[in-house]
Amino acid sequence: MARVPDSLRGQIVTPGDRRYAQLRSTYTRSASPAAVLLPKTTAQVVDALRYAREQRLPIAVRSGGHGLSGASSNNGGVVIDLSMLNRVQVIDERAGLVRVEAGARWANVAKALAPYGLVISSGDYGGVGVGGLATGGGVGWLVRAHGLTIDRVRAVEVVLADGTLVRADADHEPELFWLVRGAGAGAGIVVAFEIEAAEQRNVGVVQLVVEAHPDGRTVREWTSCLSQAPRELSAAAVVFAEGRSVLMSITAVVAAESLRRTRPAVEPLLAIGKVLEHRTDLLPYPTLVPTAHLNPNVGQQRGTTTNGLFTALDEAGARAVTRAVTGPGRATIQLRSLGGAVNDVASDATAYPHRHQDTLIVASVFAPQADAALNAAWRAAGARADGAYVNFESRPDPAAFARIYPGETGARVRRLWKRYDPDGVFRSALLTGQPDRAAQPNRAAQPSRAGQVDRAAQPSRAAQPSRSAQPSGSGQPHRRRRRPR
Ligand SMILES: Cc1cc2nc3c(=O)[nH]c(=O)nc-3n(C[C@H](O)[C@H](O)[C@H](O)COP(=O)(O)OP(=O)(O)OC[C@H]3O[C@@H](n4cnc5c(N)ncnc54)[C@H](O)[C@@H]3O)c2cc1C
Repeated sequence: MARVPDSLRGQIVTPGDRRYAQLRSTYTRSASPAAVLLPKTTAQVVDALRYAREQRLPIAVRSGGHGLSGASSNNGGVVIDLSMLNRVQVIDERAGLVRVEAGARWANVAKALAPYGLVISSGDYGGVGVGGLATGGGVGWLVRAHGLTIDRVRAVEVVLADGTLVRADADHEPELFWLVRGAGAGAGIVVAFEIEAAEQRNVGVVQLVVEAHPDGRTVREWTSCLSQAPRELSAAAVVFAEGRSVLMSITAVVAAESLRRTRPAVEPLLAIGKVLEHRTDLLPYPTLVPTAHLNPNVGQQRGTTTNGLFTALDEAGARAVTRAVTGPGRATIQLRSLGGAVNDVASDATAYPHRHQDTLIVASVFAPQADAALNAAWRAAGARADGAYVNFESRPDPAAFARIYPGETGARVRRLWKRYDPDGVFRSALLTGQPDRAAQPNRAAQPSRAGQVDRAAQPSRAAQPSRSAQPSGSGQPHRRRRRPR
């Protein structure tokens, strides 16, 4: 490796450095990059990118390292790790406007916003990074009440492949703003997001374990209940086999500040099957994305994950989803409610076009099971899906691209990725089918684009899910190990 620029001295980690072991890998994959760069400021991100390009090695961008495909590290290349770029600032308390840097984790965001009585609906796991989640979608615990995370993004600051720093919002660089909300991995390095948080301190949390009928009727009831529920209610359910039974571990979250308002919202869910466990709490929102999830990523959760979006799951679909748990391959299945505020947004308003579906279904198998098991388990259900979500896909390839960015959206994403990154510095494996980018002819940084310059330069399957519903990290793609509390 060439000598690192002065501005990054002490912020490059190479094999042999004691920090390397905790920085080389991601949550799902072990990796051996030649170097990890740790910029702390936007200017340092620009310098890191220029330096990385000059090395003519593959470049990976990492925020929280929880991407399922492992694309945020590589073998033999350079990783630009944003974990030190992690400030969370309330910039307009009245409007709930928050500036969040990409390397923050959602546990820290929730903790920082709690004193203001503000929340950003992100996901179900505190360790997930802002950068990956908020460029792909963000299906969180309050998704039906507040929409996807990207739906509340009001502006982004992006370092493009040529080193240009661009601020994009609805009025400035609207095409980049469109792209970054759904297809941001591949557009550039998003260093910060301005997000409109919602006023909320506590949430009603109902945890249920329900016996599910093997013919799929309970899964179908769950989806139909959620699609008709008030938008204050969002829910996730892990479907798993225990002995000869199929169980659903459900976590339902109500955007309400009292148990009095929580109970009626979840009432219909209590009737979908035989309830084996049931508990209701009013909890501060940060308990749903706890700091206990903040562990170093050392490839600890090897698995293969895919997903599909569904509208009004029919009988055959629900049967296929339930069979994915009990039949060949034996995947772990998670259902996530959509609809509500998600579907208020026009399908062409962002690069996440799926605005009519009401359920996301995620299927995972864990090492040593791999592709073949997942394919066997998911084939029948997957064939009935109507689109897919980029952030729950561990096998990025052109077929996945077509499911995630169908039709006009796909054509626009391709066009814009090419416009903002003509040399393919950040080229997505969704286009190439090759998650470990081979060394590309990464030409040195090009002159800045005119007109937008702020600054030029530039598991083994042994562990079955536990029966108890858990409010935090309830679902995929991490295995459930803990026993009921
Ligand atoms: C345990 C677990 C729970 C999850 N729960 C949810 C959930 O509830 N809801 C949900 O919607 N998703 C969930 N996900 C999926 C999650 O949204 C994605 O895995 C997301 O990409 C992770 O973001 P990250 O920053 O941690 O990932 P990283 O691995 O750092 O990055 C993932 C991808 O995004 C790119 N990227 C990262 N940062 C940037 C940036 N700043 N600018 C441009 N590109 C960037 C990377 O290059 C890589 O391609 C979960 C994942 C895990 C592992």
